[in-house]
Amino acid sequence: MSMPSIPSRAEHLEAWRESGGKVCAAFPAQYPKELLWAHGVLPVEVWDPPLAATRAPGHLQPYICSVVRQGLELLLAGAGDSVDLILFPHTCDSLQNLASLVGDYLKPAAPSLFFYNPKAPFKAPAREFYLDQLHALDRQLAGLFGPRAQGALEQALEWSRALAALHAKAYKMRALGELAAGAGEFYAVLRAGEYLHPTALIPLLEGWLAQSAGSASAGERIVLSGVLPGPPDLLESLDVLGLVVGNDDLLSMSRRLLTSPPGTGEPLAALGEVFLHMPPCSTRGSSLEERLAWIKGLAGQSKSKGVVFVEVKFCEPELFDLPELRRGLKEAGLPSLVLEVDVNQAAGGQAATRLEAFREMMA
Ligand code: SF4
Repeated sequence: MSMPSIPSRAEHLEAWRESGGKVCAAFPAQYPKELLWAHGVLPVEVWDPPLAATRAPGHLQPYICSVVRQGLELLLAGAGDSVDLILFPHTCDSLQNLASLVGDYLKPAAPSLFFYNPKAPFKAPAREFYLDQLHALDRQLAGLFGPRAQGALEQALEWSRALAALHAKAYKMRALGELAAGAGEFYAVLRAGEYLHPTALIPLLEGWLAQSAGSASAGERIVLSGVLPGPPDLLESLDVLGLVVGNDDLLSMSRRLLTSPPGTGEPLAALGEVFLHMPPCSTRGSSLEERLAWIKGLAGQSKSKGVVFVEVKFCEPELFDLPELRRGLKEAGLPSLVLEVDVNQAAGGQAATRLEAFREMMA
């Protein structure tokens, strides 16, 4: 099976701009994309821009994660002057501090907006708070780009429903061993959603799923957890070593993509319900019991025999949860391995050796 042709970020942005569209640099992790689409704004996510970290380290403490470091590097390289908006969701303290640093000192040409996600438990006050945030963001976007066109939000929710169904299908096919795509291909295709508009992403996913139906490679099946899929050499190592990702619990992937589709009621209220029912996540304050049960469920569905945590160094929300999660998984007969990585740096041969030893231990 061959990899589908995916427009590059630069190509897609250029075409979008030529059509008169606006662009938002969106920092991790979760924000209501649908509202941006409805205002004619394309969110382009900033997880791991491929830049040499030359200027950002001079402005940050050495124990700040590489996602924040690379995001700052991108802004210092002038990205904030070439987009129409920068959006900072409240994901963790490090990103919150980056947002303050950018707003107070860097002052890029593009306006910065902040989006405060509530933390669990998601009871009535959290629902109200989130709805207030959605209304506030809607007003801010209208102030910057004009009111959204009639029916634009309903259309955005339609796209969101189609994407939720396609993501669910991709994950189900992979968990059942019915997707003939290795880890590198799977994540290259799904990560295109970090910058493609749904009108380009939906046909890409439909075509890819149709042509990729088939048997997964043989090997020991694992659940991949952590923040991002990668670095690329680590995904290659998984494929080469016969470690087959049956499911994932990655912050940038299934914890955002495996959502229930928005309902058909009042659009902002429907968007609120999507957020409140997302999979458990360290950055949303989910309980360890909930996370443990979720990961065990992912392993069960995909017949995975172990869990590989690929953590970004210094990612506090993730690292706090790890000891208890690993203990609970071990009690459930699921061994785990932790690899700490920096985004945009190869995981290296030592990581490959540890993965190989882990595979042999599971066999
Ligand atoms: S990797 Fe962790 S610490 Fe860094 S931005 Fe993401 S959630 Fe925050």
